Amino acid sequence: MISQIVSQTVSKTVSKIISNERLSRDFYRMRVECPNDARMGQFYMLRAWARYPVLSRPISVFDSDGGTVSFLYKVIGKGTEIFSGLKAKEDITLQGPLGSAFPEVTGKIALVGGGVGIAPFYLAARQLKSAHPECRVDLYLGFSDGAILTDDYQEKADKVTVNVGGFITDEIDPAGYDHIFACGPEVMMRALYSKCREAGAAGKVYVSMENRMACGVGACLVCSCRTAGGNKKVCKDGPVFKGEAVFEE
Ligand SMILES: Cc1cc2nc3c(=O)[nH]c(=O)nc-3n(C[C@H](O)[C@H](O)[C@H](O)COP(=O)(O)OP(=O)(O)OC[C@H]3O[C@@H](n4cnc5c(N)ncnc54)[C@H](O)[C@@H]3O)c2cc1C
Repeated sequence: MISQIVSQTVSKTVSKIISNERLSRDFYRMRVECPNDARMGQFYMLRAWARYPVLSRPISVFDSDGGTVSFLYKVIGKGTEIFSGLKAKEDITLQGPLGSAFPEVTGKIALVGGGVGIAPFYLAARQLKSAHPECRVDLYLGFSDGAILTDDYQEKADKVTVNVGGFITDEIDPAGYDHIFACGPEVMMRALYSKCREAGAAGKVYVSMENRMACGVGACLVCSCRTAGGNKKVCKDGPVFKGEAVFEE
């Protein structure tokens, strides 16, 4: 039923994998041939199997050059384990780009990522700097164990702060920024939001929610989250929301 609705609303494309490299024990980066106009914060539903697991898996756009799209993913279960075994020239089914994007802002911008939540902020740093070269983009990357891709991120941002094994939220002073974007574990985003709220900066915060998802296109309610404006579907109304909407409900 869900798959019928999905195929009516968003087309899927079978795309060729260009590379799928292991970056650390659990992290991989996959680059795929796929014409796209993805914006920072959007995601694709990925599938590389016929029947099992039943559902495709949502993964954020890590980077895009218009003709290819890249994903940064962490192996945590069956679906991502299958992704990790894919080789160049093999096929993968992509559906997207889906969901809302981070707003195109300028001024002083902090991008705060925890774990695999760093994924959307490579494209975000690139798109923000190319739209407004005068803006300042500072990246805050938090990891529970080894850091990855810090040199790559460094090339795209004005400053990169890395925290391994602690709290990345401790590193940021909300008063120094006009806009603060966050993605990562909900507990991290909630802590960041509280810190910003105490500093009178709650309105500066946007968060990308990574709720478990089923259809990815708004046809079911699996990824619903409570917001100040009522229940919203993370896949269609989000994943990017104002921090106030999700943490002040
Ligand atoms: C909008 C969006 C963007 C995302 N972007 C990325 C990304 O760029 N890179 C990346 O690695 N991951 C991303 N994720 C998370 C990713 O979709 C899941 O890790 C993936 O679906 C897990 O599939 P699996 O089959 O490997 O694990 P499963 O076998 O489905 O699950 C393994 C374990 O992880 C738990 N789990 C699975 N998904 C989630 C979730 N979303 N939140 C909390 N616990 C979960 C399960 O309950 C289970 O305990 C994103 C999720 C969303 C909603």
